Amino acid sequence: MADLVITNIGQIVSGNLASPLIAGDTVVVRDGRIAAVGIAQNVDQTGIEHVIDAAGCQLWPGLIDSHSHPVFGDWTPRQQVQNFIESGLHGGVTRIISAGEPHLPGRPKDAAGTKALAILATKSWSQVRPGGVKVLGGAVLLEHGLTEADFREMAREGVRIVGEIGISGVYKPEDARPMVEWAHGCGMIVLMHVGGASIPGSSVIGAREALAIGPDVASHVNGGPTAAPFKDIERLVAESQMMIEVVQAGNTARAAAVAQLLVREHALQRMIIGTDTPSGTGVIPLGVLRTMAWIASLGGVAPELTVAMASGTTAQLYSLPEGRVEVGNAADLLLVDAPKGSEATNALSALAIGDTPSVLVVVVDGVVRVAGSRNTPGGTRTVQVPWVTAGGH
Ligand SMILES: [Zn+2]
Repeated sequence: MADLVITNIGQIVSGNLASPLIAGDTVVVRDGRIAAVGIAQNVDQTGIEHVIDAAGCQLWPGLIDSHSHPVFGDWTPRQQVQNFIESGLHGGVTRIISAGEPHLPGRPKDAAGTKALAILATKSWSQVRPGGVKVLGGAVLLEHGLTEADFREMAREGVRIVGEIGISGVYKPEDARPMVEWAHGCGMIVLMHVGGASIPGSSVIGAREALAIGPDVASHVNGGPTAAPFKDIERLVAESQMMIEVVQAGNTARAAAVAQLLVREHALQRMIIGTDTPSGTGVIPLGVLRTMAWIASLGGVAPELTVAMASGTTAQLYSLPEGRVEVGNAADLLLVDAPKGSEATNALSALAIGDTPSVLVVVVDGVVRVAGSRNTPGGTRTVQVPWVTAGGH
C-alpha cells in the first residue's frame, strides 16, 4: 500500500504551466496516487503511517526527460554505461521518453526488423522500471518498406512513438510524409531530429524538411548536438504548432535564445525539456535539472515554468497519468532544495541563478525511491525518511 503524507512543504510547484504554483503545505498519497493537496489541517490524513516532514523544502512533480535513447534494460551501448536510468532518478527524473533505440548493436534497417524492434522494445519497457523509473520505450525508426498495415499492427501492439525522423533510412519529405500520416492515423506521436547531423551518417534537417513532414515535436532544436539555424527555429515556431524541444546535449546559447523567442511569441506552452542522452555527449544524470537552470537563468523564463516544461507539458503530450501535482495523478514527486552553499534559498531560486537544485527525496507511485540523492549535493534543509536507508553522497 503506497500511502504517504508529505507535510511542511515550503512551496508546491504544480507542473502545470498555466498555474505553476499551488497554495498549501501538504500532499496526501493513497494507493500510489495523489489523494489531496492543500493545507495540513484541511486535508484528510487519517490512517496513513508514513509521514515525511519536508522541513520547508519545495515539492515538485517528478521530472520527465522528453528525449532519451534507451535500448534494453539499464545499459547504454553508446557509452558502455550501466545504470544510467537509475542514476538519472537521483537527478529527479521519474520518467524517460524514448526518441528511438538507434544504439542497439546491429539495429535492423529493414521494415520487418524495425517494426519488430519497436514492438519488442515497447513490450520490454512496459515490464521494466530501473530503480522505479518509468520508461516510455519502443519508438519506431522509419525505414523503407513500412506500410500502413505495419503502423496499425504496431499501434495495436502498444507502439506510441515514431522516433526521431532523420536518424534512420526514411527522412526525405516525399518518403516520410505518408508514414507520418499513417502514424498519426494510429494516434502515434512523431518526433523529428532538427538541426545538424547527430553522428556520422545522419542527416541535417531544417525548417523546410520539418514543415514538409509535419512531426509533433521538433526535437532538440538547440542541437543534438549542433543547433539548427535560428531562422529555421523561428519558422517552426511561426509556421507550425510543433512542440519545441530543448535538450542538455546541445548548444547552451541557443537553448537560451529559443526560450527567449518562445517568451516573445507567447508560446512557452510548446516548450519541452529533455537531455538527448545517452548520446555522443555522454550520460548526464542531472541533465534535465541543468537544462531547466539554463532556461531559467539565461532564457528569462520563470523557474516554476521550467518545472512544467520538464513534467506536465510532456505528460500531456504523451497522455501520461503523471507530471502534475493534481488529485488522481500518479504520485511521482520530488522534494528539492537549494544546494548547500548556494546563494539561493530554495530550489526555484537556485534555478533562477543557474545553480542545479538539490534532490532530497524522490517518490514514484507513492513509494520513496531516493532519500538523499547520490548525484546532487545535499540541500540547505534536511529531510528524514526514517523507514528508508539514505543513499548518501
Ligand atoms: Zn537527434
